[in-house]
Amino acid sequence: MNIHEYQGKEILKKYGVRIQEGIVAETAEAAVEAAKKLNQQTGTEWYVVKAQIHAGGRGKGGGVKLAKNLDEVKDLAGKIIGMNLVTKQTGPEGKHVHKVLISQDVYYPGESKPKEYYMSILLDRNTSKNLIIASTEGGMEIEEVAEHTPEKIIKEWVDPRVGLQGFQARKIAFKLGVEGEAFKEMVNFIQALYKAYEETDSAMFEINPVLKTSDNKILAVDAKVNLDDNALYRHKDLAALRDLNEEDPLEVEASNSGLNYVKLDGNVGCMVNGAGLAMATMDIIKLSGGEPANFLDVGGGANAQTVEAGFRIILKDPNVKAILINIFGGIVRCDRVANGVVEAYKKIGDIKVPIIVRLQGTNAEEGAKIIEESGLKVFSAIVLKDAAAKVKEVLSK
Ligand code: GDP
Ligand code: MN
Repeated sequence: MNIHEYQGKEILKKYGVRIQEGIVAETAEAAVEAAKKLNQQTGTEWYVVKAQIHAGGRGKGGGVKLAKNLDEVKDLAGKIIGMNLVTKQTGPEGKHVHKVLISQDVYYPGESKPKEYYMSILLDRNTSKNLIIASTEGGMEIEEVAEHTPEKIIKEWVDPRVGLQGFQARKIAFKLGVEGEAFKEMVNFIQALYKAYEETDSAMFEINPVLKTSDNKILAVDAKVNLDDNALYRHKDLAALRDLNEEDPLEVEASNSGLNYVKLDGNVGCMVNGAGLAMATMDIIKLSGGEPANFLDVGGGANAQTVEAGFRIILKDPNVKAILINIFGGIVRCDRVANGVVEAYKKIGDIKVPIIVRLQGTNAEEGAKIIEESGLKVFSAIVLKDAAAKVKEVLSK
């Protein structure tokens, strides 16, 4: 689960990571109040207005702007709230901005630009260790740095059984070339960041840029945090940070019905049991000239309710021109699924797109019979190749 920058920074602060202070706001007026408060708390007279969306690259996309007085705060916040922000990470459709983070300006007006670093912690599945990645080239895309100047990427693996050792934090700080007071600050920063990553059961913490101010303070200017979904059950406070505005509404509806659904751009809706079969089904749809409109795994115990929920979700996608249901009857019997399909079909009513049902496995023939005899406009196929041919046929009509 992704969270917003301002939420990530709150977590960091709790663990003793120094951050660029800020206050979140949902209107231009609230943004001005936030700026006034920030001025009292930090003395800052310049402010950074930062769009809060679950995607990076906001600066380049026009979602991060410097305001030099309260009028500019109001103006910029008013423009950014409600805008559709397109960045490299949002895709061409962009994301609607609901909130801005009003932050203190930490680049100190009038002085030369402070030094920016990059730092992230993530799980390295190959070594089963946590990996700290750091670089002197902060503020830029780390993928670019890794591609063009790989020698500027510092990597330090941490064995989760023993945790981050002091010498490792010092080694990273040394390689980053920080000295004196800033060296101590950097070591503390790395240790606190690691603690935050570990204790929140995160999959990734990425701070880009990490800033060294002219008075040698090290602080987090940005925070991109991905929490491990599988651990959220033991972090109720973190689970509450979920922002449904940032998620596709169909995906939210699917997860409420216990379905694994990912929306895609194609025209053939598919409902499958098992992730592997779902992937294979998407391949066969492509082979037959269609494009999958979604990935949908109804799980091993598909019944009439899950089939109905799946149907409703697929039908809400206006791009869907045909639906392919591909179920392997293992734990679930094909006749039960067939009954579920017929029931859901009748209940929803007025389904305009053709439906191809392929049932294989336990009681496949019985299932096919139920579909055939239902009198509904549902095509039944037992062999996957036949199902693909049917998809091709209905798409070409
Ligand atoms: P991202 O573009 O989504 O990664 O958002 P960031 O939080 O990293 O901000 C983008 C850029 O805004 C940073 O790389 C900085 O160059 C700039 N920025 C952030 N905070 C400040 C600030 O306090 N003062 C100034 N002048 N620029 C800032
Ligand atoms: Mn950033």
